[in-house]
Amino acid sequence: MAEKKRIALLGSTGSIGTQALEVARQFPELLQIEVLTAFSNADLLIQQAKEFLPNVVVIGEEGKLEYVKEALWDDDIKVYAGEKALNDVVQMGCVDMVLSAIVGVAGLSPIYKAIESGKQIALANKETLVVAGELMTRTAYENGVNLYPVDSEHSAIFQSLAGEFHNPISRLIITASGGPFRGKKRCDLQTVTKEQALKHPNWSMGSKITIDSATLMNKGLEVIEAKWLFGVPLEKIDVVVHPQSIVHSLVEFEDGSVKAQLGLPDMKLPIQYALTYPERKCSNFPRLNLVEQGALTFEEPDLETFPCLPLAYEASRRGGCMPCVLNAANEAAVGLFLRDRIGFYDIPRLIENALAKASFCVPTSVEEYLSIDKETKQSILQSFSNQ
Ligand code: NAD
Ligand code: MG
Repeated sequence: MAEKKRIALLGSTGSIGTQALEVARQFPELLQIEVLTAFSNADLLIQQAKEFLPNVVVIGEEGKLEYVKEALWDDDIKVYAGEKALNDVVQMGCVDMVLSAIVGVAGLSPIYKAIESGKQIALANKETLVVAGELMTRTAYENGVNLYPVDSEHSAIFQSLAGEFHNPISRLIITASGGPFRGKKRCDLQTVTKEQALKHPNWSMGSKITIDSATLMNKGLEVIEAKWLFGVPLEKIDVVVHPQSIVHSLVEFEDGSVKAQLGLPDMKLPIQYALTYPERKCSNFPRLNLVEQGALTFEEPDLETFPCLPLAYEASRRGGCMPCVLNAANEAAVGLFLRDRIGFYDIPRLIENALAKASFCVPTSVEEYLSIDKETKQSILQSFSNQ
């Protein structure tokens, strides 16, 4: 029997994290959970630890350390807290692969440490590649580490590239559902609320990525993620809106042939592929029935109504620290929108201002990226505390 793959699951209490555990539950003979981490949901973390009996758990909020320790005291599980612990546990000898399902730039440092210590990476946390794609992919290459995409679009591209290693890519076509506001115009969206923005038609996800899907920033982040994962320049990456979310993305080759991966919208499939690659394991996921599904349609993204998508292209074209600034401004703005402090169109406005104000530089370390991230967020949050 093949040896088990030993997994550190960062962000186990979130949308991707809980679905990754559903996958792990299906394949106990293949996957062993060695590390579970969460930021604040101590009760769910404890419940998961009691079921999967990992070696270590980490709770982000240090004030909850004693609570988690007490709950797990007779389970022979080590319990740590805080940011530094995250950076340490990904390097442990008992870990083969790190699945990063943390949301936002908080995923940057632990993934970098994991890459440096040669762990294989399954990446849901796209912000890591958006902010520091060059540093991450170069360090992965130097350490013989593969970055397996979990994002459904990138998994579709990765699956379409199987067997095509030597064949140049002429174009990547990333599909977008269009989110809850597809077909609307600027004048319809001036006063939309977070409740409306949080109603995604096809996917149930964490709140930050759901707002990113409503603004189309999620697609912008995914274009940058694809650029780094597949080494394809921006001019060869297109976005097409496909409201049914069945064709998860496509690759065009030099002979004009286009390959795609299709499936029902269910993140467990790309999570499972990243964890069991190169094998495909029998799953109990519902199957796609093309006739029942009916028409698959495609349309151009509306860049005038959804300016976050062109802003992401612009930041990536400018390069250096600009994608980091874009991501930081977006995280800060989405946080303010989720707290009802700003309107929907303040999100692109704040990002555009941040990009206009930022001075160009080329960070070379995680610390430099994190300091630009902090500065950008502080400057946005300060402008609101002064109002
Ligand atoms: P989520 O908000 O549901 O979960 C986030 C997880 O990260 C939680 O376990 C939380 O405890 C942890 N976390 C949050 N802040 C943290 C911090 N500062 N330090 C340590 N841990 C922290 O988010 P999600 O929807 O599961 O998304 C996770 C990542 O996966 C994001 O980068 C998102 O873009 C990406 N992604 C998600 C989906 C999806 O369907 N949800 C699809 C594709 C990609
Ligand atoms: Mg996606």
